[in-house]
Amino acid sequence: MKFEQTFDYIVVGAGSAGCTIANRLSEDPNVSVLLLEVGAADTNSAIHKTDIQSMTSLWGSKLDWGYSTEQEQYLNKRQIAIAQGKVLGGSSSLNAMMYVRGNRRDYDSWSRLGNEGWSYEEVLPYFKKSEDYEGGASEFHGVGGPLSVIDYRNPAPVSQAFVNAAIELGYKGNNWDFNGSQQEDGAGFYQSTRTSNNQRCSTAVAFLNPILERSNFTVQTKALVTRLLISKNQVVGVEYSQDGTLHQVKAESEVIVSCGSFDSPRLLMLSGIGDANHLKSLNIPVVLDLPGVGLNLQDHLLLGVGYKCKQEQPSPNLLAEAGLFTRSGNNLDDSPDLQFFFGPVQFLEPEYLWDGPGFTFAPILIAPQSRGTVTLRSNNPEDLAIIHTNYLEKDADIKVLVKGIQLSRELVHTHAFDDFRGEELAPGADITNESGLREYIRKVASTVWHPVGTCKMGRDRNAVVDPQLKVHGIAGLRVADASIMPTITRGNTNAATIMIGEKAADMIIASR
Ligand SMILES: Cc1cc2nc3c(=O)[nH]c(=O)nc-3n(C[C@H](O)[C@H](O)[C@H](O)COP(=O)(O)OP(=O)(O)OC[C@H]3O[C@@H](n4cnc5c(N)ncnc54)[C@H](O)[C@@H]3O)c2cc1C
Repeated sequence: MKFEQTFDYIVVGAGSAGCTIANRLSEDPNVSVLLLEVGAADTNSAIHKTDIQSMTSLWGSKLDWGYSTEQEQYLNKRQIAIAQGKVLGGSSSLNAMMYVRGNRRDYDSWSRLGNEGWSYEEVLPYFKKSEDYEGGASEFHGVGGPLSVIDYRNPAPVSQAFVNAAIELGYKGNNWDFNGSQQEDGAGFYQSTRTSNNQRCSTAVAFLNPILERSNFTVQTKALVTRLLISKNQVVGVEYSQDGTLHQVKAESEVIVSCGSFDSPRLLMLSGIGDANHLKSLNIPVVLDLPGVGLNLQDHLLLGVGYKCKQEQPSPNLLAEAGLFTRSGNNLDDSPDLQFFFGPVQFLEPEYLWDGPGFTFAPILIAPQSRGTVTLRSNNPEDLAIIHTNYLEKDADIKVLVKGIQLSRELVHTHAFDDFRGEELAPGADITNESGLREYIRKVASTVWHPVGTCKMGRDRNAVVDPQLKVHGIAGLRVADASIMPTITRGNTNAATIMIGEKAADMIIASR
């Protein structure tokens, strides 16, 4: 190995977790940190705007990896495009900006699985540490952190009707805080990661821009990390390609892989860490047989239940203005398994759209039982991974979405919607029996872009990292991003991933 430079820490991937970790590690001026990102700087102006058109223009653009699943057996063999950011800020630079931390039970169950230090009480301080909440400090919110979080302002009348409808059905509501003492059973408006002057607050904006002047911190863009450099079961550095040249850099202390749920397992496997049979089949020398790498893929799935609206509505500032977390009733335990997005948009397949105003309920499966995989297509670091999500493989999952359609219809038929409710656009009022609803779900359900779990934390045979996020069986290497979640959080995954970054940095600093 011919190292060109040496750093104490090398962080691979400048996404939600990577930017957070690089910021916290480089707070100590005596420690040098290199952050490597394959994407470019976040100079595209659409990243920083918050209107829906600018945001959706980023999906499928060159700032998106362009991932798509293989043909999904339980979704009528459709291939589902799953956007992932390839730019400073990673997916936080093109996500929908909704700020939802998940349910306290998510973290308590991680802890019960043997991941000490990850209970809700133990992770709450890290959520608060990141946050600069415009609503002020409280037991559940922080102020003065790098990440600006704001409340939803001026919801459309029909979104207020959604909240009122939920109250009519017996839920709590109005100023409901999904990130407060109780997430479920109340309807409210979503908080978002935007600045007070209405710009996107990605992790590049929050955690990276303020530290670019630090002399102990280096960030390289357009730098594809092609493999980890390993000597005698110890990761000693990384190799990356930039402008057609290969570079090797040394990490004195550790390498932290934060490439997201598709590319963290991909980089481990390209480096010889993964299922030995899979690696051998691609002529990759096996460094460590770790069969769980790339398993346990989980994602949230949503679909639209759409209506014509009797009144024009103002354009929303978020993909979903209002929401609700509840139980489908199919669950054995008491945890919510159904989330709603709601807004004055037609979030529907093209064949269901109409020219006039509309609104959409989007029920979301938030505790899926089905599990997918990420594997390598080849041993070429330029090739995208193969993704099988197995969405809806388990019957329990489709049952939750059936209940989601039924509950949407209950909500729309409350008095609260009397001034708004028009004809049902999708699935269509004539589709009422369970088999028709299942058919609609398999035809239209799609991702909420929340892949997690492919380098899961734990202690069982398929665990990839331990509760300190150290990769089992090899020294000098941690994975810290959405891929370490043992089970997916009930809610949008950005806040949880930033929390993982905060906690990872704290654990690394504590272990010095
Ligand atoms: C379209 C979309 C909408 C979403 N909406 C929301 C939302 O509203 N609210 C919410 O909470 N969550 C949302 N999410 C999910 C959330 O943004 C992600 O869960 C979170 O950003 C994941 O963070 P991460 O650090 O795991 O990965 P990422 O943020 O994706 O970061 C990984 C980074 O690593 C880089 N990388 C990968 N491989 C390499 C390599 N070999 N060498 C160098 N660099 C590499 C990538 O380019 C990327 O920048 C959305 C996601 C998407 C894509």
